Amino acid sequence: MAHLRASGSSRIMGRVSDELLTRHHDGGAAACAQAAKGLPAPPSLHTLIVTCMDARIDPVALFGIRPGEAHVLRNAGGIVTDDVVRSVTISQRELGTRTVYVVQHKGCGLATFTDPEFVAKLESECGAAPEWAPGSFADPVESVRAGVQRLQDSPFTVQDMVVTGFVLDLETFELEPV
Ligand SMILES: [Zn+2]
Repeated sequence: MAHLRASGSSRIMGRVSDELLTRHHDGGAAACAQAAKGLPAPPSLHTLIVTCMDARIDPVALFGIRPGEAHVLRNAGGIVTDDVVRSVTISQRELGTRTVYVVQHKGCGLATFTDPEFVAKLESECGAAPEWAPGSFADPVESVRAGVQRLQDSPFTVQDMVVTGFVLDLETFELEPV
C-alpha cells in the first residue's frame, strides 16, 4: 500500500515537475547563479518574512526583495509554528536578522475548516491523528496577533527584534497592519 502510494505520487510529481525542471534548465539556474554571485549568507536587510504558502502570493515581488536581502518562511497559513520559531531563532542568532514581518491573508484556506474537523478527516482517511495542530483560524487578524505574541514570548528570539503583523488583501495586495 505504501509502495503503491509512493509510486502513484511520484508519477504525478514527474508529470507536473517536468515543466518546472525544464524552466530550471532553460535559464532558471543560470539566472539564480548570476543573481547570488558573491553574496554573503546573512540577509543584507536583516529581515525575515513569515507568510502563507498560497500560490498566488509572491513575497519576493510583494516586497521587491532582491537576492541576499531577506529570509522568507512559508507554510500553510503563515502561522508561527514550532518550526517557524526554530527558523527565526537561527535566522536571528546565526545570520543577524532583526526585523520580522508576519503576513497572513484574507480568504486563506486555513479559515475553511476547523482543527477538529481536519483531524477527524485525517483519522478517517489515514487512520491516524497528527501530532501537530493543523493551525486553522477563523480570523487572520487574531492569528497574526497570536503569531506575533508567540515570537515575542519566545525565550530564543532576540531582545531587539522588531515584529510587525500584517493581513494581506489578495485583491489589491495591500497590507493592513495588525
Ligand atoms: Zn493562505
